[in-house]
Amino acid sequence: MNEPSPSPSGAAARPAIPSRAAEPNTGLITVEGIDWLVLDIEGTTCPVSFVAATLFPYASEHLESFLKDSAEQPEVQTLLQEVADAWEADPDPTVSLLRDQHQSGAGPLATLPYLQWLIREDRKLAPLKELQGLVWERGYARGELLAPLYPDVPEALHRWKASGLGLAVYSSGSVAAQQMLYAHTPAGDLRTLFSHWFDTRTGAKKEPVSYTAIARELGSEVGRILFISDALAELKAADAAGMQVLFSDREGNPERDPGPYRVIHSYAQLNTKP
Ligand SMILES: [Mg+2]
Repeated sequence: MNEPSPSPSGAAARPAIPSRAAEPNTGLITVEGIDWLVLDIEGTTCPVSFVAATLFPYASEHLESFLKDSAEQPEVQTLLQEVADAWEADPDPTVSLLRDQHQSGAGPLATLPYLQWLIREDRKLAPLKELQGLVWERGYARGELLAPLYPDVPEALHRWKASGLGLAVYSSGSVAAQQMLYAHTPAGDLRTLFSHWFDTRTGAKKEPVSYTAIARELGSEVGRILFISDALAELKAADAAGMQVLFSDREGNPERDPGPYRVIHSYAQLNTKP
């Protein structure tokens, strides 16, 4: 806490001047006139490292065993056919070489070399993304994956909900992935606390029009929505659309520059008023 400290020169101590009139040095952040909270996930309610250091390595490690076990599922067969078609059509010279080396491949693992190449190269391919989602689903169901939300998040979600605020998620991860994450947290299944889930199908997170669309979907005046994210560009877009915004600053976040926006480090700080 920023208690005023005596001046080293011995002059009379003056109270520290709060950086903003509305925010005395209590650490409380007051946001007035909101009915809705829209929350980003990575860097906002869950460490960024969970996706990079846990989810993606888990998917690559378990992809082969998943394909062996699940090849009979029609959904998996359809996805594998899409992967095979993409492999055939991929113009990358490295991929042609890979094709020549694995020409005789058949069965559920036929496209595995290409899938592994896509993962290594960090290439986005829709059926790969869906297969990864299925691997995570199984990992969560087996209790091998658990979303490590920041410790203050579950209590805050319950408190906001109880106070009558509506809660929504807006994340670039698919709605299915968002729901999987909130279904498996150290505080249990938190999905019912949220009434709306938005991903990039609603629009890009750096486009103001996406936030206008969210407000319309929530049936709310845009100014009565508070959006919290760790990405400055997203806050700028939400702000441009007329939302209230807060910058989430947490240990381990790649982005620490809040721009002109107020910063929140823990949801214990947030004081909402109707
Ligand atoms: Mg984020």
